[in-house]
Amino acid sequence: MKILVINAGSSSLKYQLMDSASHDVLAKGLCERIGIDGRLTHKVPSKDLKKEFEIPMPTHSEAIASVLDALVSPEHGVIKDVKEIDAVGHRVVHGGEKFAASALITDDVMKALEECIPLAPLHNPANITGIQACQKVMPGVPMVAVFDTAFHQTMPEKAYLYALPYEYYEKDKVRRYGFHGTSHRYVTARAAAMLGKKAEDVKIITCHLGNGSSVAAVDGGKSVDTSMGFTPLAGLPMGTRSGDLDAGILEYLMTKYGMDIKEMLNILNKKSGVLGISGVSSDFRDLEDAAKGGNHRAELALESFQYNVKKLIGAYAAAMGGVDAIVFTAGVGENDAATRMAVASGLEFMGVKMDAEANNTRGKETVISAADSKVKVLLIPTDEELMIATDTAEIVGKH
Ligand code: ADP
Repeated sequence: MKILVINAGSSSLKYQLMDSASHDVLAKGLCERIGIDGRLTHKVPSKDLKKEFEIPMPTHSEAIASVLDALVSPEHGVIKDVKEIDAVGHRVVHGGEKFAASALITDDVMKALEECIPLAPLHNPANITGIQACQKVMPGVPMVAVFDTAFHQTMPEKAYLYALPYEYYEKDKVRRYGFHGTSHRYVTARAAAMLGKKAEDVKIITCHLGNGSSVAAVDGGKSVDTSMGFTPLAGLPMGTRSGDLDAGILEYLMTKYGMDIKEMLNILNKKSGVLGISGVSSDFRDLEDAAKGGNHRAELALESFQYNVKKLIGAYAAAMGGVDAIVFTAGVGENDAATRMAVASGLEFMGVKMDAEANNTRGKETVISAADSKVKVLLIPTDEELMIATDTAEIVGKH
């Protein structure tokens, strides 16, 4: 099946047209500046082709229409007719407690997505707009929603509940949801395949380390804990997000500097994390360059990040009563050999032994632990789009 994968943000929209059987990416690209002016970047990997267009995109509907035009264009298209697209898979950030798996989009599902807006006020409205725009431009084409939160719905109550008055969970659904679920699920399946075992038979810790980072404990193929929480602000220090902190700090700083909650959250989301500590950059490549040049705060930002990942690995091994494999994925996890090594070193006591030479690689599935390491350490490039396309083909095929 030919599946169009859509990841809609408030002013941008990423797309990939995939063949779900061969896993080939036929075309992919990005619409930017939706609602401002409009720019389309369209790529055809098999031809090494990249085109950029300025196209007015007052709304997401024009953005999707321009994507479809690019896909069928005689010059740089990859299909003859839009009808060749069998289905559309949409990335949706928040599925609340309603969705523990991907779902065929119906009127009822759309209603449920609207109900999840208060849980993800920045992301879900954009995802919904993307779906509605596709429905308008491609009427009758089946569509599937794939949720960032769904994979973590298997967490037990003790892992997802915050120690707040219980009515905030019951009435307001305040709990740990976790994110990056599509990525954690994808690398779990790949890790099991690399180990030559069924996912049901292994305990895996998946480290999705990118601009946003989260770690998950996956026991028998099911997420049993994860570091992001009610929002993606929780857990590890990230590129610009603070990760976990003492809630008392908010009151202290807001009072001292007369900040309102919006200003405080802007600091926690945009000015904290490794950028905040280093004062240099949110990008690990810049931090490593600065650290090599003797910048102490850049070094500290890296060390703080690595230390926190290591602590979570220890915590999740304890939570699961053991671990068979640790997986590194996403921008930092796939590319940054030094960070992987720093995270794994010191874990020898629990059976982790790295292979420095094997670790000196980037972006391809590799066993990076030593042959005699009790716990396997794996580098696995994530592929959320492939997971979305696979789910979409499966669900649409059944209907
Ligand atoms: P997002 O969370 O936005 O999807 P990615 O998973 O694409 O982010 O990760 C982006 C981050 O990956 C960059 O900000 C950068 O810190 C890191 N990164 C990418 N390439 C390298 C590299 N070669 N070495 C170290 N870090 C890298």
